[in-house]
Amino acid sequence: MQLKPLLSIATTGEKILTQIAEPVTAFDQALHTLANNMLNTMLGANGVGIAATQVFNRAAMFIMASNPNERYPDAPSMAPTVVINPQILSVSIATEAGIEGCLSVPGQRLSIARHSEIEVQYQSLDGQLHQQTLTGFVARIFQHEYDHLQGITLLERINLTTPQVQVQVSQC
Ligand SMILES: [Zn+2]
Repeated sequence: MQLKPLLSIATTGEKILTQIAEPVTAFDQALHTLANNMLNTMLGANGVGIAATQVFNRAAMFIMASNPNERYPDAPSMAPTVVINPQILSVSIATEAGIEGCLSVPGQRLSIARHSEIEVQYQSLDGQLHQQTLTGFVARIFQHEYDHLQGITLLERINLTTPQVQVQVSQC
């Protein structure tokens, strides 16, 4: 992989994290470059997902790339997936609580309830439409990153869902 300079990551208090992303209409080289830079930024920060709004870009796009790392040692492995103009078509009634962190909320890991299974639709970098059913940790990543595109972080989500336990950790 070609390494490019890491993008700076917006953290709590930045206005961009509260703004709603805008639909992507141009599937051009600039979008490929943004996706590549987001991927490298995410990998450099040991993330399993990153949304464009987290790197100060309003594009409705995120990357999910679950892989075991020091932040998520039990994460399943998957190829990095670029998700553009995502929609959640349906959700399971069942939810499950799990520990989440966020590159934009350094130093905190929170127990957040997410739908166990979701049916989603999105476009890939070539503009092609995809429909998938996601479960477990990958469904969790999708819901977390989708929230970012709605201007919501896990700090707001913790007030929207139950059960909830706030866990403070000394390292991130
Ligand atoms: Zn996040």
